[in-house]
Amino acid sequence: MSVELNNVSVTYHNGYEALHKVNLLVEDGEFVFVVGASGAGKSTLIKLLLRELAATTGIVKVNGFDLTKMRKSKIPKLRRSIGTVFQDFRLIPTLNVFDNIAFVLRCVDKPRSYINQRVPYLINLVNLNHRIHSMPNELSGGEQQRVALARALANDPKLLIADEPTGNIDPELSYEILDLLKGINECGTTVVIVTHEHELVQHFGGRVISISDGQIAFDEQMRGEGG
Ligand code: ADP
Repeated sequence: MSVELNNVSVTYHNGYEALHKVNLLVEDGEFVFVVGASGAGKSTLIKLLLRELAATTGIVKVNGFDLTKMRKSKIPKLRRSIGTVFQDFRLIPTLNVFDNIAFVLRCVDKPRSYINQRVPYLINLVNLNHRIHSMPNELSGGEQQRVALARALANDPKLLIADEPTGNIDPELSYEILDLLKGINECGTTVVIVTHEHELVQHFGGRVISISDGQIAFDEQMRGEGG
């Protein structure tokens, strides 16, 4: 099971309850959209899964890790099992495409020979071979997000979380990013995408979980209309 939330509530320090008794199971290999209005609790949910936040009550399990009991020293191991992509790309501006991706492999002490083979493979996966030596500021938003996606996959995560991945990208290029995410899912990675772009959800389909006022308002499998 990729994600297991059992009766999970999150109350912030100011007393605001952002999630209320949420129960959610995401099985390995699922393709899931999380939708909901601003303030509904989507970011809170994502922060819980990354253990940036702890549940106030309830049990949270991700990729077999029990986050409720997890020691701080185990958090990096959890996070390495999750790839993340954010709206603002979060590339390192002073490193080229190759080194942005190699960076996360160097962080976990992968040997140079492995990195020299793995990084071009990842760059090819997101169709950026011609950009391998480019700096982030030389790339379009769509290209930067593809680098971020390659980087998110570097450590072969079981779960990929994309938080508004198309928020800063031209609409026509958003479909390319979603196509890549769908392809990654078809290779076995569980993919959870937070988005407010309903056209994308309708086009691609999948499991759609709608959050409203800190609760799951709707959770259904929808058939995609496109492609
Ligand atoms: P979404 O991502 O769906 O826009 P969030 O999870 O960011 O929603 O926020 C859910 C609710 O929790 C909102 O009402 C927000 O104002 C509140 N909230 C978020 N972060 C905090 C915080 N650190 N302290 C207090 N309230 C917060």
